[in-house]
Amino acid sequence: MTSTLIAGNWKMNGLARSIGELEAMIAGRSEVPDTVDLLICPPATLVAAFALRAQNTGVSIGGQDCHAAVSGAHTGDISAEMLADCGASHVIVGHSERRADHGETDAVVRAKVEAVWRAGLVAIACVGETEAERDAGRAVEVVERQLDGSLPERATAANLVVAYEPVWAIGTGRTPTVEDVASMHAAIRLVLEKRFGDDGGAIKILYGGSVKPDNAATLLGVDHVNGALVGGASLKASDFLAIAKAG
Ligand code: PEP
Repeated sequence: MTSTLIAGNWKMNGLARSIGELEAMIAGRSEVPDTVDLLICPPATLVAAFALRAQNTGVSIGGQDCHAAVSGAHTGDISAEMLADCGASHVIVGHSERRADHGETDAVVRAKVEAVWRAGLVAIACVGETEAERDAGRAVEVVERQLDGSLPERATAANLVVAYEPVWAIGTGRTPTVEDVASMHAAIRLVLEKRFGDDGGAIKILYGGSVKPDNAATLLGVDHVNGALVGGASLKASDFLAIAKAG
C-alpha cells in the first residue's frame, strides 16, 4: 500500500465559521507526510465552501451520505452528482448511524455505492458489528455478510475504500484489541481479494471507532490497516493533524 488515508467524519457538527478549523488543517498539512492523504467530510451544508477553500491544498473534501438516485422527488436528500458538483471527491456510505437511524440495509448501501461511482467519486463503505454480535462470537461473520451485500461488482482500489467501524467503539472511547483489529482486517482483505482479485489486495481498509492522537500510531501500525475514519477527533485541527502524523 503506497499511501494512508486519514478521513474525518464531522457528522452533524459545523457551521460556516468552522472553516477556520479547515484552514488550520490546511496550514498544518505540510507537517504531515506526503504518503498520508487527508479528507474531511463536513455536513452537506459546508461541502461547497470547504471544497472551494481546500482546492489544491492536499486536503480533500467529501460527503457523509447520498441518495441512490440522480435527482427527483426526494425532499431533503442530496445525490452523489450534487456532491460532485460541489467539489467532493469521496462519499461515506453505510455508516452505522445511517444504518441504525435510517434503516439502511446492505441493499440500500450497495445502491448508494453504485450512485457514488456513477458520479465519478470514491465510495467509503462502512461495515462493523454491534457489541452483542461481537459478544456472540459473530463479528467476522456479520462483517463478511455486510461486505457481500453492500459492495457491488466492479470495485477497484480507485473507486472504493472500506471502513471497518465496530459500532460499540464509535464515540465511546473504547477500541478493540490490536489482535481483534488485525484479525478483522485480515478477514476483510480475504473477502476483497476473493471478490476483486488484485484490486482487492489494493483497496484501502480504514479502521474507525474512537481513534485519538494517543492510540493512532498503534492502530495504524496493524497489518491491513490502511488509514482511519475519525469522528470526534476530526473536529479539532490539532487532534486530526496529530492522528495524521502517526499515519
Ligand atoms: C465515526 O463515527 O465514523 C467515528 C469513527 O467516530 P469516533 O471517532 O468519534 O468514534
